[in-house]
Amino acid sequence: MSRCLSERSIDHVVIERGEVANSWRTERWDSLRLLTPNWQSRLPGFGYEGDDPDGYRTVPDVVDFITAYARACAAPVQTSTKVTSVRRTDGGYLVDTNRGDWECRTLVLATGACNIADPPPVATAVPPGIPSLTPHQYRNPAQLSGGGVLVIGASATGTQLADEIHRSGRPVTIAAGEHIRAPRVYRGKDIQWWMDAAGVLDERYDQIPDIERARRVPSLQLTGSPKRLTLDLNALTAIGVKLAGRLVGISHGKAQFSGSLRNMCALSDLKMDRLLDTIDAWATERGLDGEVEPPHRFPPTRVEASPPLSLDLTSGEIKTIIWATGFRPDYSWLHVPVLDAKGRIRHDGGVVPSPGLYVMGLQFLRRRKSALIDGAGDDARDLSAHLADYLDGRIG
Ligand SMILES: Cc1cc2nc3c(=O)[nH]c(=O)nc-3n(C[C@H](O)[C@H](O)[C@H](O)COP(=O)(O)OP(=O)(O)OC[C@H]3O[C@@H](n4cnc5c(N)ncnc54)[C@H](O)[C@@H]3O)c2cc1C
Repeated sequence: MSRCLSERSIDHVVIERGEVANSWRTERWDSLRLLTPNWQSRLPGFGYEGDDPDGYRTVPDVVDFITAYARACAAPVQTSTKVTSVRRTDGGYLVDTNRGDWECRTLVLATGACNIADPPPVATAVPPGIPSLTPHQYRNPAQLSGGGVLVIGASATGTQLADEIHRSGRPVTIAAGEHIRAPRVYRGKDIQWWMDAAGVLDERYDQIPDIERARRVPSLQLTGSPKRLTLDLNALTAIGVKLAGRLVGISHGKAQFSGSLRNMCALSDLKMDRLLDTIDAWATERGLDGEVEPPHRFPPTRVEASPPLSLDLTSGEIKTIIWATGFRPDYSWLHVPVLDAKGRIRHDGGVVPSPGLYVMGLQFLRRRKSALIDGAGDDARDLSAHLADYLDGRIG
């Protein structure tokens, strides 16, 4: 957004509570690599120029990439400045920070979609003595005591942590609710390449039937490993990870799991096949069938006949619980009445219903790719155009 504002000669400042790329410096586990390939981290005027376009960046690589971008754009970033309150004024907004106030006519909230790890209310019923960790607190398996680990949630974070922790010699059970299965590579190409090329990632918020639902869809079960491995539930059970259904409660020290695991997995297989159907149709239409590997389908997710419906957390088997149940933004400092009853910010493709106020970086904000690094550019171009019109008085 800073780059797009500069292109329009709109005077601005970027306020950051930490350093540039703060979330990547402070909130990620050690082994994490982007699940999007190198070529896909495209920012306005800045793409990948290395010799490994199909590789996946490590966290230090991401920090370097974003820092280099801020430098290349000469972004006016004011670091170590935490916004503590935002209020409406007659002409715009008053932004309080730990280093003084700012007044502005327009304000873009780019504080991220994942500020707070979001365990369900049942997390408070974990028996005392079993440490609970969120992905923001988890760094590596050495931080955990020996013994079993229960991972709640089977999207990108849950599957990656289950894999790493199980391989460290700590037996893992993973509780899988709704999840989206995807192969890393299909017909010889990265699944992100297919989704990008076929236009799936460019689908717009105002052109899909149920945007509220689409904004809640969990992340794809993907990992960025040098070997381009698929990390679905079959990959986890193949190394010995145990599968359970969605965690629905904890009562008298016993975790209770939904009996719907088989259905959840069947649904996930079905959705993956639908995505692959879309890709195959697009490949045929574009005449690619002779150039790439032929279409094929993957074996269904293996689920044992009677998956466990409960697990005694007091038996000593489980030593740690990891809540890989998603994240949410933090708007505790936003004193403008634009949040709904669930605390979510109301917006129309990033245009917040308060004059001159915008939000970026949220799930499916304007496009399916909006919460990816690759989605920021198009959204910033659109929203900076709207913001310029507002400043010029063309929008009320
Ligand atoms: C575990 C995980 C893995 C991910 N993997 C990928 C991936 O593989 N590929 C991909 O494209 N995307 C990935 N993402 C999404 C990724 O976070 C975004 O693409 C990208 O970081 C979003 O950038 P952003 O600037 O919108 O938000 P953020 O990176 O969250 O940046 C928000 C910034 O706002 C600052 N801030 C927040 N509150 C305040 C305040 N009150 N005052 C001042 N500053 C504040 C924060 O310090 C932070 O620097 C992942 C996210 C997570 C959580």
